[in-house]
Amino acid sequence: MVIQMKPDATQEQIDHVVKRVEKAGLKTRLNVGEELTVIAVIGDKTKLGDISIGSMTGVEHTMPISAPYKLASRQFHEEPTIVEANGTKIGGKKIVVMAGPCAVENTEQIINIARIVAKSGATFIRGGAFKPRTGPYSFHGYGEPALKMLAEAKKETGLGIITEVMTPCEVDLVAEYTDIFQLGTRNMQNFYLLREVGKSGKPVVLKRGFSSTIEEWLLAAEYILAEGNPNVILCERGIRTFETHTRNTLDLNAVPAIKELSHLPILVDPSHGTGIRSLVAPMSKAGIAAGADGLLLEVHNDPDNSITGDGVQSLFPYQFDKLMRDLKSLVGAIGREI
Ligand code: PEP
Ligand code: MN
Repeated sequence: MVIQMKPDATQEQIDHVVKRVEKAGLKTRLNVGEELTVIAVIGDKTKLGDISIGSMTGVEHTMPISAPYKLASRQFHEEPTIVEANGTKIGGKKIVVMAGPCAVENTEQIINIARIVAKSGATFIRGGAFKPRTGPYSFHGYGEPALKMLAEAKKETGLGIITEVMTPCEVDLVAEYTDIFQLGTRNMQNFYLLREVGKSGKPVVLKRGFSSTIEEWLLAAEYILAEGNPNVILCERGIRTFETHTRNTLDLNAVPAIKELSHLPILVDPSHGTGIRSLVAPMSKAGIAAGADGLLLEVHNDPDNSITGDGVQSLFPYQFDKLMRDLKSLVGAIGREI
């Protein structure tokens, strides 16, 4: 349920409603907008018994939130959420591009690619230090030394860092280096990890599970929000379908659907969404045209020698630069900037 306060409700009246609800054993989250204050009530509302919140002083009306996710829903938060990381706003007018290799391979590589993507207009360097791999014998990332390499790249270029965290016990370590946690497709429903990044308060890019529905995805986001971390960014990275030509099926329906259902920003990752280099630029443009707030892209200076198998979906620097230039002309048509 959400409680909408009257536009002229006083702080005292708001506090009084919050206290009353919490006294009944429920949790609250406050959304103070420019014009309206909305209080979300989290938990079993039968606990309120006969208390009529709707008739308390300062309350405009109460509304049930029909979706199972509450804090992630548009009903709770009408305005789009803007998440800020390393001085960049994600979810506003400006399209944000995060680019880099699948994995951090060495200091020279990551600084080199960071310089390349920064020059073309990216504002974050991506690169895995902890890599989730399907097989146990594959390369799993260099761990903390790779985080230090990302920090070097940030120092050299000023780019923000986005990198994956895979386990709750590594959240504090990764937080020392990164500006944004990446939660990978395989971990979308790792509820302990969701709670832990929720407690950290740092921005999180939550990738869609490759077999998850939009509702399950928003419920995963709800775990992070419910811990008091409002800085959640969703990322559509493709789902598993019967199609085998592409690595995944990039579900661009999800972009406008998320915009209707939720206030959270959404990125598109056409690298993992297609798995095929030649499809990455067209699907990047399609993602932005569909309303995405940004892109997460794999770019490698020497994709044939990439340490993970993701070289086949990584753009060459010249292709990334061309895509960024093409996006410049596209975004004007949809009222955005890059
Ligand atoms: C990645 O971004 O390199 C990655 C492993 O992504 P996903 O979790 O979407 O497979
Ligand atoms: Mn990858």
